[in-house]
Amino acid sequence: MKNYFFSFIFILTTVIPKSFGQNRDTILIENVNIIPMTKEVVLLNQRVLISEGKIINIEPCLSPFKGKVSLTIDGTDKYLTPGLSEMHYHFRSNDIVSDFKLLVANGITTVRNMAEFDGQDQIAIRQKVTSGEILGPNYFTTGPYLKSEQLRTIEDVKTVVKIHKQRGYDFLKIADNLPLNIYLKLLEECENYKIPIIGHSQRSLPLEYSLRMKSIEHIEEFIYLSDENNNSIFKQSKDKLNVLAKQLHESGVYIGTTLVIFDFIKNCLDDEKFKAFRQDSLVKYLAKKEREDFLSERNDYRKLKDREFDGVKAPILFDAYFTWIKTFSKILSDNKVRLLTGSDTYGMGIVGFSLHKEFVFLQEAGIKPYDILLASTVNPARYLNKYSEEGTITEGKNANLVLLNKNPLDDIQNTKSIEGVILKGKWFDRQALNKMLKEVEIAFR
Ligand SMILES: [Zn+2]
Repeated sequence: MKNYFFSFIFILTTVIPKSFGQNRDTILIENVNIIPMTKEVVLLNQRVLISEGKIINIEPCLSPFKGKVSLTIDGTDKYLTPGLSEMHYHFRSNDIVSDFKLLVANGITTVRNMAEFDGQDQIAIRQKVTSGEILGPNYFTTGPYLKSEQLRTIEDVKTVVKIHKQRGYDFLKIADNLPLNIYLKLLEECENYKIPIIGHSQRSLPLEYSLRMKSIEHIEEFIYLSDENNNSIFKQSKDKLNVLAKQLHESGVYIGTTLVIFDFIKNCLDDEKFKAFRQDSLVKYLAKKEREDFLSERNDYRKLKDREFDGVKAPILFDAYFTWIKTFSKILSDNKVRLLTGSDTYGMGIVGFSLHKEFVFLQEAGIKPYDILLASTVNPARYLNKYSEEGTITEGKNANLVLLNKNPLDDIQNTKSIEGVILKGKWFDRQALNKMLKEVEIAFR
């Protein structure tokens, strides 16, 4: 038995500053099965003590608890996992409070926002969520999505990186097909300013160039890339793809998955599937303007349905691409490439829910649930330089947790069986989460 009383009293009475928005409740979860994500194991019948937003003690639940707490949660037959990470989020609804509710109600406690669109102030959003002014997950953001038009000269590069530094973005995000001299200068300037450079791969350059970024977004991107001998990666044998994945592992690059967005685009080309979007029970969580944009013929992807590429009809080609993306996802996972789960929250990739859909596609690809969870907990925490506080269920870490009714290691779909969420030390039971969802439904009407 560990001496948790000491640490408990110590934390309550002394060092932790009482910052605004921080929850000071002490929460006890009794008799819960923990999936700590430190290794592939389930710790049965545990007691977890949470105070001041931190996990302060974990021990087997052997005798009755003697201390005083503000809330006790019965964890019997339930499973506790670290909070999940949506690593490719886009804010499109113009209602960040509603988006955050969707994320939290889906067990997402960390978000990487992947662009600052016109009229948005992503730094202000991050500030508000960090201070506790609005309730939301840990928030990280890139600056505006940079294309070659914004980066015409070396001077442009210097200015853009400097502005990123001054504004305080967490990442600089780039598009594909930047000229080589511009790309190299960007890498150099970002290194100088210590801003990680992330985004789309450089399709006109051999693969190795893209590995110089901290992360590559979308497994799909590899379809359009070539190796150093100018051979298309898409056309390579499984043996060669395994060699390539080993190279990706060794480079240390992280890869954002985003299978959901590709599935959505693919389904836009199919009249029946496109029509069925409106019948989806989750469509009420899509903001009105988005419903009008994505679910009507205004959707640009609809224009692709009759097109041909190299003599192949687009719907057939996209099906082949999606099959390849799944095959390659499994190869990446087999070779221990650092994956980050993200969905792109676009179209029917409905904020919050789409991450669980992403998990299902990864499982369909053959990746085992534990490895999918790694890509949504441990890997993001490492990637965001937050592993000392996030990503696992261990003493001293932040209390960002999801309580599930079913074991996600048996089937990743069980991440949807959410009984409650602890966000920054604050407990939201199923009723509270349902209330959040209802509020979003009304706001998005
Ligand atoms: Zn994106």
